[in-house]
Amino acid sequence: MEINLVSDTVTRPGHEMLQQMFRAKVGDDVYKQDPTVVQLEETVADLFGMEAALFFPSGTMANQTAIKLHTNPGDELICDKWSHVFNYEGGGIAFNSGVSSQLIDGDRGMITANQVLDAINPPDFYHSPLTSLVCIENTTNKGGGACYDLQTLMEISEVCKTNKLGYHLDGARLWNALVAKKQHPKQFGSMFDTISVCLSKGLGAPVGSLLLGKQEHINKAIRIRKVFGGGMRQAGYLAAAGLYALQNNVSRLEEDHRRARQLGNFLQQLPWVDKVEPVETNILIFSLKPQYSEAALMEKLKQKSIFISSLGKGKLRIVTHLDYKEVMHNYVIETLQKLTF
Ligand SMILES: *Cc1c(COP(=O)(O)O)cnc(C)c1O
Repeated sequence: MEINLVSDTVTRPGHEMLQQMFRAKVGDDVYKQDPTVVQLEETVADLFGMEAALFFPSGTMANQTAIKLHTNPGDELICDKWSHVFNYEGGGIAFNSGVSSQLIDGDRGMITANQVLDAINPPDFYHSPLTSLVCIENTTNKGGGACYDLQTLMEISEVCKTNKLGYHLDGARLWNALVAKKQHPKQFGSMFDTISVCLSKGLGAPVGSLLLGKQEHINKAIRIRKVFGGGMRQAGYLAAAGLYALQNNVSRLEEDHRRARQLGNFLQQLPWVDKVEPVETNILIFSLKPQYSEAALMEKLKQKSIFISSLGKGKLRIVTHLDYKEVMHNYVIETLQKLTF
């Protein structure tokens, strides 16, 4: 039994999801003739109360498309210093859009309206790049699965409106936030100009993300997706997995959150653990007391078939997911209990 807690992207489609994929009605989605893709796009747009949605092969492509449609080359966007769009999308902000990034020193990946306000370049001061977009991440990835209060997001939304900035949400793990905070998708749909969501993280689909927004934004997005090489043909097989995931795997995220919380509480009591970051969803970040090495811990766990990851700078990460079952959870806790350095 291999227990992979490196990411929630390691899940494999189960029998029922595969059956639904087999049965999918498909067509050529580049001609908008794949009924299952259209169904998925309409379902998710409706769920968020947004006008339209577009299916993407990855969250990165959905985010990069959003950035491109909200900006012109030479512009600047505002995001947290830990954000995925800045750190983990291969420099795409600069490469794809010719845009610079104004990084905010947020709290566990979360920023405030005042910080955004301070980061906006005066639009009439033509020496500075023109600020045109704010990117939010919820839940935060590097921030350890932290989630925003709606109040903060509302305040940032007001700043964006007043200053005519686009407002994009990288919601790769928005499903986790919705479940953990008991929020409704429409509360997000009414606030943001565009939202990206992933089906291949906690929801367990093999591939797929969506970008949501107004029809005019999605019309632009379809052209950009084409340029990025993301137009797919019989993508309905993948969309069917997404529909299955939405029907079956959203509310169960609570289980992942409980297990992450339990692991956090447990680690806190171990003599070799220094600090456990607050656990709000399915990501758990912790550090070891200075005399212990992360590499040694990872190696000891590996010998017990448990895989976790290092974030560097003394931080370790555990991510719970659909394929991390109760028996495995009990085994991990038992193993941690017995571990000696
Ligand atoms: C995973 C992730 C993405 C998208 O990643 P892909 O691997 O391209 O699907 C975007 N934002 C965040 C915060 C993520 O964790």
